[in-house]
Amino acid sequence: MTFYKKPLLIHQGYMQWLWDFEGQRYLDLFAGIVTVSVGHCHPRVTVAAQKQLSRLWHTTSIYMHPPIHEYAEKLMELLPDPLKVLFLANSGSEANDLAAMLARVYTGSFDIVTFRGGYHGVSPYTMGLTAISNWKQSMANGFGCHPTMCPDVFRGPWGGSHCRDSPVQTIRTCNCCPGSCDAKDKYILQLKDVLSTCVPKQIAGFIAEPIQGVNGTVQYPKGFLKEAYQLIREKGGVCIADEVQTGFGRTGSHYWGFQTHDVIPDIVTMAKGIGNGFPMAAVVTTPEIAKSLTQAHHFNTFGGNPVACAVGSAVLDVIKDDGLQKNCENIGTYFLVELGKLRDEFESIGDVRGKGLMIGVEMVKDKTSRDPLPQEEIKQIWEDCKDMGVLLGAGGIYSQTFRIKPPMCITKEDVDFAVAVFHIALQRHEERKNCTK
Ligand code: PMP
Repeated sequence: MTFYKKPLLIHQGYMQWLWDFEGQRYLDLFAGIVTVSVGHCHPRVTVAAQKQLSRLWHTTSIYMHPPIHEYAEKLMELLPDPLKVLFLANSGSEANDLAAMLARVYTGSFDIVTFRGGYHGVSPYTMGLTAISNWKQSMANGFGCHPTMCPDVFRGPWGGSHCRDSPVQTIRTCNCCPGSCDAKDKYILQLKDVLSTCVPKQIAGFIAEPIQGVNGTVQYPKGFLKEAYQLIREKGGVCIADEVQTGFGRTGSHYWGFQTHDVIPDIVTMAKGIGNGFPMAAVVTTPEIAKSLTQAHHFNTFGGNPVACAVGSAVLDVIKDDGLQKNCENIGTYFLVELGKLRDEFESIGDVRGKGLMIGVEMVKDKTSRDPLPQEEIKQIWEDCKDMGVLLGAGGIYSQTFRIKPPMCITKEDVDFAVAVFHIALQRHEERKNCTK
């Protein structure tokens, strides 16, 4: 986790903007860690919350209350068959805990395959699904989780940007392309190795983000996830898509990240953007899998809270009515292309990747070694951007990647401003380096 030298004391937010107590305005490109989906204090969402607050704050799932059921119906319309059963929860960790439980209870097996670099929460169980050392405490967590190699075509041994589904391409690391690139197959062999050596004959499932978020917007080679799903299902496992960061139109071309891989998961988990900053989460699965949970009660006091459902409902309406998925596609592509130009100009940008408004800019010492840019240097660029009014996120195992995942309402003018600021910060970085040579 990275903090500014002088912590930011935020006073208020509106859409893609935040203000501190001194009146300085910031373009928020991290959106409270990819959480503020439609905009800070979006007026329609705020009014929906206010209305519900004066009508009913809480009821238990023992009683019915229309906003809860209306929300469930609206959300379910957005998911393909057979994903038609909804559980409501309060956080991404809770949702992934429930997903893992569903996979186990349904299959009667225990082991779950994950990706190195995946983040699925830090509750005692989800910490086992999470495979980033920065987020692992030395304590018993998540038994039966088996992280396979992350098919990262930039930092991993095989592949190049041509393997990814992204508008920015040029980096190559293998010589066999285009046309006959076998990077995907090599990463699949790693998964096969885990499946044949580390787990029992039958497994409970596999969990993956469609694009890794906390690990620095890592995209897999095209076709990888589809093949991985087949292998998992051959071992009796179910496939879980963690859409906590990628869902709700953020990737632009599709509403759900899994659709960009042409797969249909058995279980989908959602949080963060689902509530635009209001605490809520969801798990969606098939009737068959959901039924397996009826052997005992499953209960969650706040899951399906009426205010959360009113907020969630307004978020879905705003995404649709404000054309935010399309905006992610158009503005995200423009952003990626502009950042690609910076990558070509500056030696310290190793990679620009992503889809829609789910963007990563990986910082390196130089393009040849690809060693991560030292932390102090990254932090200074990050601080400089903040001082000029642009807030970036950081991610990756060495915090080497700037994460750009703004509220989905940002405009072309915002992108031009952000790119200009980033350009100045990178120029200053080069000047500092030249001074110390
Ligand atoms: N999954 C993903 C992909 C996440 O990014 C996060 C949070 N960073 C979580 C799950 C956990 O969500 P929460 O912090 O709400 O428990």
